[in-house]
Amino acid sequence: TATTNVLRVEGLTVHYGGVCAVRDLSFSVPAGEAIGVIGANGAGKTSTLKAVMGLIPRKVGTLSFGDVDLTRVSARSMVRHGIGYVPEGRHVFTGLPVEKNLLLGAYARKWNAETRATLAEIYELFPVLGEMRGRLAGALSGGQQQMLAIGRALMSKPRLLLLDEPSMGLSPKLVENILEVLQRLRAEGLSLLLVEQNAKLTFEATSSCLVVENGEVAMSGTSAQLRHDPQVRRIYLGL
Ligand code: ATP
Repeated sequence: TATTNVLRVEGLTVHYGGVCAVRDLSFSVPAGEAIGVIGANGAGKTSTLKAVMGLIPRKVGTLSFGDVDLTRVSARSMVRHGIGYVPEGRHVFTGLPVEKNLLLGAYARKWNAETRATLAEIYELFPVLGEMRGRLAGALSGGQQQMLAIGRALMSKPRLLLLDEPSMGLSPKLVENILEVLQRLRAEGLSLLLVEQNAKLTFEATSSCLVVENGEVAMSGTSAQLRHDPQVRRIYLGL
């Protein structure tokens, strides 16, 4: 049901030594929706995603996905609870073939007809990965590696996908491809939490957004409202 897929985050705080990177952040990702987090370099976006995934120490009041309390769930078990993660900078295994990278994304599942079907779906979503399945991931372009990182996360059949700056370092044409992929995933019912410096992409890909500055929510609203906000236009869209 819809309520079993809602991510709730309340009172999330991250410190690095004396530096507070995320301060008492609260938000939720409703089932089937795409929510964006935009902000400048160093605003705390990556720390927020890593903290949700349990990859870095954090304090949090509520962290749950549907009925499941995630506050004590380890990062590797998050995948079993239906949450996928596409890290910043892609981090594909460059010395392994494309297909092997994808199969590693299914480590929490048994290898059977269902996982084979998921692999086939990913090759349908990203035909170039199918064409290059035997090539080393290191031989792919930046854009192809980003597709591979997304495909790898999809191999676990997540119900919610966390994406950290998928547009980073990509040409405008490839950013357009990323947008199409995100829209397609959303149309298939996947919930998305998209962290980006690219506000234009984020407004197009999401229904509502948080604007984060110095680890705190500076503004929030629907993506349609925010893209017309004069301050947002000046600071984040350069208009
Ligand atoms: P970027 O776009 O560069 O990824 P960001 O919005 O994701 O930026 P974070 O990477 O979450 O921001 O960083 C938030 C703050 O925490 C910054 O001031 C950063 O310098 C600091 N920070 C991040 N990682 C560490 C770390 N490992 N040790 C100390 N400080 C850190």
